[in-house]
Amino acid sequence: MKDYLVRGIVESKNCRVFACTTKQLLEVARQKHDLWPTASAALGRFMSATFMLAAMNKNHEKMTVTMNGGGNIGTIMACTNSDGKIKAFVGNPHVHYTYEDTGKLGVGLAVGNQGTLQVIKDMGLKEPFVGTVPIQTGEIGEDFSYYFMVSEQIPSVVSLGVLVDTTNEILSSGGFIIQLLPEASDEDISYIEEKMRNFPAVSALLNEGYTPEEILQMIFEDVKILDSQDLFFECDCSKEKMKNALMTVGKDEIQAMIDEDHGCEMTCQFCNSKYSFSEDELKELLESIQ
Ligand SMILES: [Zn+2]
Repeated sequence: MKDYLVRGIVESKNCRVFACTTKQLLEVARQKHDLWPTASAALGRFMSATFMLAAMNKNHEKMTVTMNGGGNIGTIMACTNSDGKIKAFVGNPHVHYTYEDTGKLGVGLAVGNQGTLQVIKDMGLKEPFVGTVPIQTGEIGEDFSYYFMVSEQIPSVVSLGVLVDTTNEILSSGGFIIQLLPEASDEDISYIEEKMRNFPAVSALLNEGYTPEEILQMIFEDVKILDSQDLFFECDCSKEKMKNALMTVGKDEIQAMIDEDHGCEMTCQFCNSKYSFSEDELKELLESIQ
């Protein structure tokens, strides 16, 4: 199954819904960043949530979502232009925790719960929208649910999941979001609560081959799918962009790189691509600044 996201509406229950599968792109990210299983689970959940958050944007704003709960995984960051492409990283890819009682991957332990989840939506012209909420559990799904409630005043069910094989390969990744419209009644809320009680883990359903549409249909028989978008892990870095970043470090720094290292190598934190600059290229850069 390719990676994609669907957006839909359930008129009978006054809610809008989103669902996605992100297994392939998480596998790409795992290989680029050498993610250990708990880091894969954290980044997979985070990217799925970011994609669905971006799908709520009407104007294809640039979105940057950051989370840091003080745990060993460090900062988790994802960027997308709401075009189906995402770039993302975790501060420390080599974290692995499991919960002793269930044996499940301990995402909350890795992320921590002392910090914030921040969403920046850049519309290009005006001041960017910035929404920041305290992290609740570090399990990511609950944290996004809290963000929607507090920052956007939209009651939401957020279900995210990742399944990792014993070989560390990604078996499944994805999730769904249910958001109540202002017209939602108490009956609509009760229906959703009842459905969510004992609902199977989304990672297990995806691993069994259920599509995002089918998972939504398990909750709402009459869900109307409005559109679908293919999803990819793709970085937009280039040597040119790295050169611009290099120009901001200052003349003395560049001179030091020329004198001491006879060149430099820069790594893109979003995709781990390496860009090397020779001594001559650095000298040329230095002249262009002066
Ligand atoms: Zn990159």
